[in-house]
Amino acid sequence: MNLLDSEDYNLFFKEEELILWIKEIVDFGIRRPGYEADIKCQEWIKTKFLEFNLSDIKEEPVELLIWEESGARLTVWQNQEPTLTTEIPAFPVPFTTPTKNFIGELAPLDAIAEESSSTIAIGKLGLSTVPLNFFRSLAVDFYDPKDEFNYLQQTLPFGPEFTEVLTPAINKSVRAFIGILDEFPWETMEYYVPYDGIVKDITAVWISKKSGSRILSMMQNGTVSGSISVSGTNRMGKSENISATIYGKSDKWIIIGSHHDAPWASAVEDGSGIAMVLSLAKYYSQAEKPKHNILFLLTAGHMSGGAGTKTFIKDHPEIVKNLVLEIHLEHAANECTISDGKLLPTGMPECRWWFVTEDEHLLKAVKSALIAENLERSLIFKPDVFFEHPPTDGGFFHLENVPILNFLTAPMYLFDPDDTIDKVHITSLGSVPRAVVQIIKSLEE
Ligand SMILES: [Zn+2]
Repeated sequence: MNLLDSEDYNLFFKEEELILWIKEIVDFGIRRPGYEADIKCQEWIKTKFLEFNLSDIKEEPVELLIWEESGARLTVWQNQEPTLTTEIPAFPVPFTTPTKNFIGELAPLDAIAEESSSTIAIGKLGLSTVPLNFFRSLAVDFYDPKDEFNYLQQTLPFGPEFTEVLTPAINKSVRAFIGILDEFPWETMEYYVPYDGIVKDITAVWISKKSGSRILSMMQNGTVSGSISVSGTNRMGKSENISATIYGKSDKWIIIGSHHDAPWASAVEDGSGIAMVLSLAKYYSQAEKPKHNILFLLTAGHMSGGAGTKTFIKDHPEIVKNLVLEIHLEHAANECTISDGKLLPTGMPECRWWFVTEDEHLLKAVKSALIAENLERSLIFKPDVFFEHPPTDGGFFHLENVPILNFLTAPMYLFDPDDTIDKVHITSLGSVPRAVVQIIKSLEE
């Protein structure tokens, strides 16, 4: 039975329903790959697919590197007063080498000459702030009805090193590193980067700006030593890609995907992506039979080098070669400002990035949908505008010469535990999936 006429989709994508789903996802806890909460989330997604009566509900194994940690300990002291130790709160950097009581003298990373295996390097990390008129200059098109890109700036969740945050220390052959999250607009030490799923032969911790200045001022008064302990493991393990299908009238495929894992109990990253994908699954389960088969895909291990997407591409060449469009939806994010050193949602959307394959018909369809759904603050980019593929979970599909539409926002708090439910940009939860329906419809014409 078809419950829907094609224009009836406003009945779907109810923001209240999607936000409740995101709350359920967040309540599972920290959804890092291999963690209990991520497994619960996978089960929950399958239940939803069952509820919507989708076909071929599948869980497919993904081998990946699992980083499990249970905290870090950092103690420092002035060499002339070794009994007077100071405990500094510290966060273990993902995929680094755990250690017990690594003791060494602290030295600024920049000042270290080559081999220095007995020292603890200390350096600063900041996030990049970019004027949006610069990003607009890189875009192939944009939708900014209020001309806000003329004056808005965006703080990204990365600095100029992107995820290569440990490379400068590794290049100097140090065995231990303290990274001060110095130019972060809010006070934090919990930065879940890098997430490339590659073990680093270095022990490393992040500390907050305040802790950093404390240590740096101690270093001005003489030599400082420290002891670092990181408890954790890096091990190969398994997670699962969860998928389900709605069969269409052709043998071609569309994928609508996001990832189910996260750095924290994250609401935006990617509780919001899961909810948008599910809302489209629910919609198409009741709409007219689509022209092409639609595969709803929630991948594993985005936070471990995008392992789920890579595995899907490797395991399903027959789907990949018949894809007419790969859609990935990530991050319905509120823009935040900083007030009293804390993140404060403005209620406006974070600048929206749409990585779109250069195809005239597709680009036109995307632009009309952005206008129809008033998806302001939107930039349309070529897939390889920043790197050889978009920095999205679906980005690897671009390397397979598949047409892509990858939606992503990059709010500064993306890898922080402060990615809580208040950071979700509520109206995007309805308007982004509705735009996707319109884009798919125009491709069918
Ligand atoms: Zn994401």
